[in-house]
Amino acid sequence: MSCYIGVDLGATCIKLALLAEDWKVVKRIELSTADFPKKSLLIRSLEKHILRLGESLKVKPKGVGIGVPGLVDPEKGLIHYLVNIPGWENVHLKKILEKSLEVPVFIDNDVNLMALAELCIGQAKGKKNVVCITLGTGVGGGLVLEGKLYRGTSFSAGEIGHIPLNETGPVCNCGGIACLERYVGNRYIIEKARDKLKQRSSSIISDLIKDDFSRLTPEILSRALKKGDSLAKEIWQDIGRKIGIVLSGVVNLLNPEMIIIGGGIAQVGEVLFKTIKETIKKRAMRIPAEKVSIVPAKLKKDAGLIGAAILVKLEGARRTIPEFI
Ligand SMILES: [Zn+2]
Repeated sequence: MSCYIGVDLGATCIKLALLAEDWKVVKRIELSTADFPKKSLLIRSLEKHILRLGESLKVKPKGVGIGVPGLVDPEKGLIHYLVNIPGWENVHLKKILEKSLEVPVFIDNDVNLMALAELCIGQAKGKKNVVCITLGTGVGGGLVLEGKLYRGTSFSAGEIGHIPLNETGPVCNCGGIACLERYVGNRYIIEKARDKLKQRSSSIISDLIKDDFSRLTPEILSRALKKGDSLAKEIWQDIGRKIGIVLSGVVNLLNPEMIIIGGGIAQVGEVLFKTIKETIKKRAMRIPAEKVSIVPAKLKKDAGLIGAAILVKLEGARRTIPEFI
């Protein structure tokens, strides 16, 4: 039996798992990113837990695949930088981990790995032109063009979250101005909701957080929406319109058959999806807008781990066509 180790290194939590040949998670570990303020501590912890996962089944894994939220050179296994996790500039993570773990290590952008997973065993199975977008702390994107993962000239393609929405506006973590992420990333949704709440006399949101703004999260806004709160609906529709505007440009540029939306905020459900679909219908060119279907990710929270394991099978960036699908 072959097995793989997948790692999903996120800005909020780090997931590690041992996966079987059929991409099922056999064993998993979850860590909080905030517990590792120093990069060196996090790397040591990754080494320790990866070794433990391998030993638990007494089989040597084929390799370790790691997804990270940022710009990566997958050929060298070099992390250029992570947009929402400071201190990770120019880290040769592949080299460091291969020395200590003695198995092949492959690294890629996390949304590229989600796209790979959806392409192999998820919503995009059998599809040729697919765009993946994840909504969470950051807004990431991954592209499948003509059945292959498309990484771009310097492996940075698909950064949908950093497409500018306006000529002027707030400065983004990436250095750009008025990027989509700067309006619909978790912390900005919370900021906006806080400002709007201060202007309102009553809202279900205020009851849910007991007037303590530090308790405000996108999950709370989602719960308020399900309870019928009009302010929550207004906020989510505004977010849906902004995502829809950027995706209209993506639809016009790439003419995809499917856009897969994943990540925490995608769990908001129908109000968000309906607004995104209506905006694309209104704003994109008629023929590509009619052809594209907008669907939620199938693989949910494990997509990054499954994609990381698939990356090992593909030997990193060496092969972009998953022949086994
Ligand atoms: Zn940006």
